[in-house]
Amino acid sequence: MSRFLSARLSALTPYTPGEQPRERKYIKLNTNESPFPPSPKAIAAAAEAAESLQLYSDPTCHALVEQMAARYGVSPDEVLMTNGSDEVLNFAFMAFCDDEHPALFPDITYGFYKVFAALNRVPYRELPLREDFTVDLADYKKAAGTVFLANPNAPTGLALSTAEIEALLQANPDRIVVVDEAYVDFGGESCIPLIHKYENLLVTGTFSKSRSMAGARLGFGIANAALIRDLDTVKYSTNPYNVNRMTAAAGLGVLADEDYTQANCKAIIENRESAKTVLKTLGFEMTDSLGNFLFIRHPKRSGEEIYLALRERGILVRHFNQERIKEYNRVTVGTKAEMDALLLALTEIVR
Ligand code: PMP
Repeated sequence: MSRFLSARLSALTPYTPGEQPRERKYIKLNTNESPFPPSPKAIAAAAEAAESLQLYSDPTCHALVEQMAARYGVSPDEVLMTNGSDEVLNFAFMAFCDDEHPALFPDITYGFYKVFAALNRVPYRELPLREDFTVDLADYKKAAGTVFLANPNAPTGLALSTAEIEALLQANPDRIVVVDEAYVDFGGESCIPLIHKYENLLVTGTFSKSRSMAGARLGFGIANAALIRDLDTVKYSTNPYNVNRMTAAAGLGVLADEDYTQANCKAIIENRESAKTVLKTLGFEMTDSLGNFLFIRHPKRSGEEIYLALRERGILVRHFNQERIKEYNRVTVGTKAEMDALLLALTEIVR
């Protein structure tokens, strides 16, 4: 750190992204990307948009917002497009958290929530998941503050039902509940239809996972129009051109290719479920993940041992050096061939 860094930031521990290795070619199952390339329609649209890069992008993302509204059955003023869903989450911390509204989220969840809270200097509380990693909603119903729940959660893959989220929304209509649906397309239930019923609900989503666009950075928030205006206030005070032209065009391309997205989700769900069956025969224990990843441990090998042994064999997974989950690895679900390679390697490792 230089002597010039503001004291405000000197204690901040930034988020650690999963490795993006350069030294050798790995089977990359460590950052929950899609194993499939983007839709050809997304690629073609991005290439065409590149021809107009001398012009700023549309700060309202008008065309994309229209299509998103049609896709999700909401109106355009209920949609905000952002630079990845990380950006809309950060906006939500800025807009809806302060000393009177501390952020509340599980002790085991997406690691960025804690960083956003610290960056924006808002107090936060981590509410422990139960022993089996399920969320105890009673804790949230009792506590005051802005709630952030990844649903399905990461890295566990466990999901709450919309009925459970609805009970939470009803328990305290005076506070915001942010439901982060980054992984919802792999088997979870979306809360988006609830935005018309609950003015305190913000749902966030991403094009990074089911739509194969992690490298383009496209995310969104869906909520009633007043909440979207609040988030817009933050957006127009930080970066009005937050979604670049190529990304917006690619987003439109993939929305016009919903069959492609659905087919990819189906393949990932199938690969996930058949991997669960094989892993169980190898003695692995796991959560019943509904994400595009598995969360696994083996009673006879430590989490770190498995992580390192896979790495040696050219397979990258995500190991978190964190209490309660040290013995686990989070493994992104890849193609059939990648999963076969993974299962072969794990068979050798635990034998
Ligand atoms: N939420 C969760 C739970 C995630 O795991 C991630 C990605 N790692 C994100 C949000 C952010 O994804 P993106 O910014 O690529 O949309």
